[in-house]
Amino acid sequence: MERAQAVELRTLRQEFPVLQRETSPGVRLVYLDSAATSQKPRRVIEAMSQFYEQHNANIHRGVHRLAEEATAAFEAARQLVAEFIGAASAREIVFTRNTTESINLVAASWGRANLQAGDLVLLTEMEHHSNLVPWQMLAAERGLRLEFVPLSADLRLDQEAYARLLEQQPKLIAFTHMSNVLGTINPVSEMTRQAHAAGALVLVDAAQSVPHLPVNVTDLGVDFLAFSAHKMCGPTGIGVLYGRRELLEAMPPFLGGGEMIKRVHLRDFKANEVPHKFEAGTPAIAEAIGLGEAVGFLSEVGMSAVEQHGQRLIALAMERLEEVPGVTVHGPAAEHKGPVAAFTFQGAHPHDIAQVLDSRGIAVRAGHHCAMPLHEKLGLPATTRASFYLYNTEQEIDQLIEGLYQVKEIFG
Ligand code: PMP
Repeated sequence: MERAQAVELRTLRQEFPVLQRETSPGVRLVYLDSAATSQKPRRVIEAMSQFYEQHNANIHRGVHRLAEEATAAFEAARQLVAEFIGAASAREIVFTRNTTESINLVAASWGRANLQAGDLVLLTEMEHHSNLVPWQMLAAERGLRLEFVPLSADLRLDQEAYARLLEQQPKLIAFTHMSNVLGTINPVSEMTRQAHAAGALVLVDAAQSVPHLPVNVTDLGVDFLAFSAHKMCGPTGIGVLYGRRELLEAMPPFLGGGEMIKRVHLRDFKANEVPHKFEAGTPAIAEAIGLGEAVGFLSEVGMSAVEQHGQRLIALAMERLEEVPGVTVHGPAAEHKGPVAAFTFQGAHPHDIAQVLDSRGIAVRAGHHCAMPLHEKLGLPATTRASFYLYNTEQEIDQLIEGLYQVKEIFG
């Protein structure tokens, strides 16, 4: 069984051209930065080239052959995304630029239409800046109150504190499914049930979860869910906002311009139907097609297999990292985590660690990972983060550990 998986993994790695590359002569790339952006399989790159070589045209407006082909491919990608996350209809899938834009869309459109001075929006202490700043901006504009579900001692969310905060009747709770630093996987389904019982809507930042776990919006029961193609084997420049259809239909447009209208007069306009109402201007057409291909690729591998592989890697990585004297991994136990390990190393600055590892071809990230409030809470200016995906191997974890022993030699 394990042997069969190892063989499968070897063939799967061959589908990612960049993984064959050397970062300097004789030094093969070990890519451990997929939480920032994943690598792309050949079929995603080829689907995008094929679009530009054979079908390139603007969508929705033309009657010529190429315009029809481009429109069909773009809308087929939307359908694939809807099926991938278990949405009831492709109309619930809005294409945006990324997770950040998806959350800004909800804050600007749903938030301005539904929130008033004094209303409470609940966030958590483990959010990415993408799920903090849009709410801070809206809070400043509208006089909203923001409260934060605190971390528990084991670096998950404090569920008792959450229950108490729900008693204050927030209008919305917006939280991450999987932390991009701690790796913590939050119990979305249960938290959503409680939020709905308290009368709040739920927005989930799924930037880290949709790439790594089976995610089904219908089973989870969430109202909004945001993610980015580039972290799930797809291209940059395209993201997704899932929204329950009744909510999207009631929301005002976000950006104004072409495509998002049914009719325009000099002094007013009538908005298009969902999801087009939220897609002003020429969208990222080739990128949507690339995302559709990435979804096809992940579905063929199987999201349960992706999840299991991630669990095996993070369990091994935690075990091996904690054996290195001076290393502390920041996050809950492996069974509550996705494949992300943020760590500190006594005596060595995260940027120095990343540089030593880079000299060995190992790509990790150092810094606050767009979660400054979380690092403040942990009392750390920065961490080094190794993150894993379906193409990473156990040998690459060995290489990471060997690299850390070199860091130890250099920095004592
Ligand atoms: N939320 C989380 C949890 C993330 O990890 C990221 C990406 N680091 C984002 C939001 C933002 O994603 P994007 O930059 O693609 O908008």
